[in-house]
Formats: sequence, C-alpha cells, structure tokens
Amino acid sequence: MGFYLIGEEPEPKPLCVICTEVLANSSLKPSLLRRHLETRHPDHKDKPIEYFKRKLEGYKNCSVSSYLSAFNADSKLALETSYRVSFRIARSGKAHTVAENLIGPCAKDIAMCMLGEKAA
Ligand SMILES: [Zn+2]
Repeated sequence: MGFYLIGEEPEPKPLCVICTEVLANSSLKPSLLRRHLETRHPDHKDKPIEYFKRKLEGYKNCSVSSYLSAFNADSKLALETSYRVSFRIARSGKAHTVAENLIGPCAKDIAMCMLGEKAA
C-alpha cells in the first residue's frame, strides 16, 4: 500500500513513500493505510508494488544523511552564501528578484575586480 515502517518497537510508524508523511502508530491498520492512499493519492492507488518499491528506494537515496554527506566543502560554502544573501533580502523586505537583477551582477563585478576573470 506504499508504506515503510520507521521508528523503534514497540511503536513503529508507517511512512508514506509518496508524500513521506509519517503517520501515527495507530494508523498501522490496513484500512487506515488504504484510506490515506485512496484519499491523499488517488492517482497512485492502483500502481503495482514495483512502483512503491522504486519510490522507497528514491526516499532512501534522498534521506537527509545521504543528502548532506554528498555535499563537499565548496557546496556547503555555496549553500551558506545563498542562505545569507536570501536572509538579508528577506529581512530588507525587497522582492527576491533583487538577487538576480542587482546582487548577482554586483557579486560578479566584485569577484572580477578582486579575484579575476576565472573567479567571476
Ligand atoms: Zn502520503
């Protein structure tokens, strides 16, 4: 039915492999799992079991730990840079397009002047 058990005994919880929502332990009854599938994902209810297995593999491959470990140092710095700029834009109340229209070109000019063509 598209669920994977997570958590520890005696209260494992079902995780929906389609929306990754974790349901309560009390939702482990087949009728409740079926209701989630039929009401939340009616277009997936008749899919073959292989479909749900592929979804589960996709979920496992994209889990937070494997996602974070894939980042190298440059990616982490790029992520932090992006976060810091986004945070300043949000705090200023300006439209997010200011990053594309003004901050990006300014950062490129700064990199060009300070570090050279390759860095820009
Ligand atoms: Zn779901």
